Amino acid sequence: MSGRDALAAHFWQGCEAGELRYQRCSGCGAAQFHARPFCARCGAAPLWAVSRGLGTVYAVTRVERAPTPDFARRVPYDILLVDLDEGFRMMAHGAPGLVIGDRVRVGFERSGTRALPRFERLPEGDS
Ligand SMILES: [Zn+2]
Repeated sequence: MSGRDALAAHFWQGCEAGELRYQRCSGCGAAQFHARPFCARCGAAPLWAVSRGLGTVYAVTRVERAPTPDFARRVPYDILLVDLDEGFRMMAHGAPGLVIGDRVRVGFERSGTRALPRFERLPEGDS
């Protein structure tokens, strides 16, 4: 397994365990979602961390045509860009009806061999 594959595997194992894993730089403290062996900002070694899974919707894209047969039964569905409270941005599935600025919480949905992150609206009063 290459280093990059091992990093991706660590992320997906987190999803299986109900954890949204990301990296935080041991040097500058920057958060990064796409796992790398080094910090994209300063080059130092990142450490794994677990997000609380809370964030704000930054963008919503409606998908009308499935990229693979697995997703055909889901269309149309929404893909989100979410700004997580820990300071990184990620793309993921979202519950229907979310709009920019909504507060959301991550959950995990089985799709084939993977548990995929999927965001839902945070109930009122929760932060
Ligand atoms: Zn750094």
